[in-house]
Amino acid sequence: MADYDPGNIFAKILRGEIPSHRVYEDDAVIAFMDVMPQGIGHTLVVPKAPSRNILDADPATLGPLFAAAQKLAAAVKKAFNADGVTLMQFNESASGQTVYHLHVHVIPRFDGVPLKPHSGQMEKPEVLAENAGKIRAALRN
Ligand code: AMP
Repeated sequence: MADYDPGNIFAKILRGEIPSHRVYEDDAVIAFMDVMPQGIGHTLVVPKAPSRNILDADPATLGPLFAAAQKLAAAVKKAFNADGVTLMQFNESASGQTVYHLHVHVIPRFDGVPLKPHSGQMEKPEVLAENAGKIRAALRN
């Protein structure tokens, strides 16, 4: 497996070098909107500690990461009045991974509505901003 590359896009977001629609931050993670959502409210939870994926992650990273993913799952369900929530996590290209910094996808789900394709179409920034606002509001309540 290749080494962690600090030039990956999520590392740049973590360093504030490129923008994101951020919805949550704590000591261990940030969460922001996926720019090519597979459904409304598709959020990414990203640990601050560098690892390529789950295969090289420090186990200490995983507890805070999934604790935050749980918070975000509840928040997106509430924010979009969803029927359920899908969490996904990919490791290496064979599995569908495209960005090589560990992350968890959190996607609100609605009965009978399939997911859109992975890394499909870019969403409009104003839509992402509005959805981020709804998730931040749900996290506050
Ligand atoms: P994965 O295939 O699990 O590595 O997922 C990477 C995800 O990152 C995909 O769902 C992309 O739509 C998303 N993505 C790529 N670039 C950005 C970005 N700059 N900001 C937010 N999400 C991104």
